[in-house]
Amino acid sequence: MEDIIAIKKDGVIYDTQTSILKNIEGDAILYDNSPDALEVIRHSTAHLMAQAIKSLYPDAKFFVGPTVEDGFYYDFKTSEKISDTDLKTIEKKMKEFIKKKFPIEKKSYTRAEIEEKFAGDELKAVVLRRVEGEITTYSQGKFEDLCRGPHVPNTRYLHNFKLTRIAGAYLGGDEKNEMLIRIYGVAFADKETLKEHLAMIEEAKKRDHRKLATDLKLFTFDEEVGAGLPIWLPNGARLRSKLEALLFTAHRKRGYQPVRGPELLKSDVWKVSGHYQNYGENMYFTTIDDIEYGIKPMNCLGHIKVYQNDVRSYRDLPLKFFEYGVVHRHEMSGAMHGLFRVREFTQDDAHIFCTPSQIKENVIEVLDFVDAIMRSFGFEYTLEVSTKPEKAIGEDAIWDSATQGLKDALDENGISYGVDEGGGAFYGPKIDIKILDSLKRKWQCGTIQIDFNLPERFMLEYTDENNEKAQPVMLHRAILGSFERFIGILIEHTAGEFPFFIAPTQVIIIPIADSHLEYAKLLQKEMMMMEIDCEVSSKNESLNKRIRTAEKQRVPMILVIGDEEVAQKSVALRDRRERKQYNLSKEEFYTLIKEKMNEVRF
Ligand SMILES: [Zn+2]
Ligand SMILES: [Zn+2]
Repeated sequence: MEDIIAIKKDGVIYDTQTSILKNIEGDAILYDNSPDALEVIRHSTAHLMAQAIKSLYPDAKFFVGPTVEDGFYYDFKTSEKISDTDLKTIEKKMKEFIKKKFPIEKKSYTRAEIEEKFAGDELKAVVLRRVEGEITTYSQGKFEDLCRGPHVPNTRYLHNFKLTRIAGAYLGGDEKNEMLIRIYGVAFADKETLKEHLAMIEEAKKRDHRKLATDLKLFTFDEEVGAGLPIWLPNGARLRSKLEALLFTAHRKRGYQPVRGPELLKSDVWKVSGHYQNYGENMYFTTIDDIEYGIKPMNCLGHIKVYQNDVRSYRDLPLKFFEYGVVHRHEMSGAMHGLFRVREFTQDDAHIFCTPSQIKENVIEVLDFVDAIMRSFGFEYTLEVSTKPEKAIGEDAIWDSATQGLKDALDENGISYGVDEGGGAFYGPKIDIKILDSLKRKWQCGTIQIDFNLPERFMLEYTDENNEKAQPVMLHRAILGSFERFIGILIEHTAGEFPFFIAPTQVIIIPIADSHLEYAKLLQKEMMMMEIDCEVSSKNESLNKRIRTAEKQRVPMILVIGDEEVAQKSVALRDRRERKQYNLSKEEFYTLIKEKMNEVRF
């Protein structure tokens, strides 16, 4: 009985305090790392932190302390200055309270009673204005806090936590309000999981793509240019263009045709599509000759115009148009983050126009494409079906059949997936592709969306088998999502150790002495002819220093050239990816790198 920390009934978690008080019976939630248990543990740890803060800073006033992914935070204020170095002191105090094994008790109050209790606390006044129905508090030791729960029964359950970060947060998230202090923490049910998680955070910091991009000279941002507008440096641009080239060929092989629409389209056409009304707040507008234009946030309309440029028959379908579409979307200035969230990015975007009966096979074909790409980069991934959101265009019946179409395609092919209710795009349901990186973090990347709405709005048609007019279905799909985001993820996934086929510099040749330079340059020339990016490192530095520099740049293959290599027409190879060193004849080496390039099959 002892390790039951809460129960669950009809999807609602009741802590033991509540279930005993109200005689509610349900499924037991045990003290472990299950999502339900962690919810209770993390929220209770937020209160424990508040208790510690209150005892250290007696004038502290508290706002709200919800759970977030992996942990919790609490927003509060105090007249004293709190910084990162105080987190340790707060943690220490929390540990004292754990040792005291305070029972955590729940009490009920009338509104008048609670207003008297928290009189003079302006933050509690804001919280109370939001509370409807029963008003309850939880207390542990001398600390009592307004809350509806759920909480663990005793502070002794809360040992596996760490306070991770201190930040500022506007009251209620509104920039017009005062700034509160927010402390974040993580919590788990056991020490090992906490330790693993903290190690993962450390590793993630080391792999931060913004830091690695600076070290490896991949991309940069410039205040003078503007926030969220990436500038690709030669190394980053090389990596990106290789990815683009590989993907271009893969699209052609799979029957896609490259097309290209304009960056600016009249606002009127965005009104027809519904973007103006439903997506306008994320768009940028400009006026030319007194006419308003919208800068495209998506590439769909250009492709619709390509479709409309010809008379289409069922025999032509499916038609697959693709474009590396540069799009602009307005992101809040605080939301931008390296390449993960930017205001300008390029999608690997395609639109498939097909008959309703072709939906399933096309969805499956796209999923096969996704699988080939993800495997090439060593990514695991999951799929999620997102259904109709609150803000949406189109009839319910259309939404239902489109959503069912996606699920059927997955079910019939035995592909497992999750469901995100209400997570669809405003014009149709979608399958989201979520990448799992080497640190087991999940990233939203590509999507496949079924759209009956835009074909209707633009009155798209084709002639069917009976020589009658019919409406095609439009599938929007992107596999990487955007080059920016995908490359950002790839940098963190590989820690900058890119696979050979995509590395900005694939081979670096280090001649030991000047007498070896001529042969080094010959090798470079021959490799450049094979479309292998290759550099000669002939700086006036020691051999070891030059090897270290090449390793720091994470170049996959380093060739050291000395007397023997020149005489034998061979190379001494250090393969960083395979962590091996060996000698090969020049021809053997060329065969090896050609094989490596051919290994990639999208
Ligand atoms: Zn609470
Ligand atoms: Zn689209």
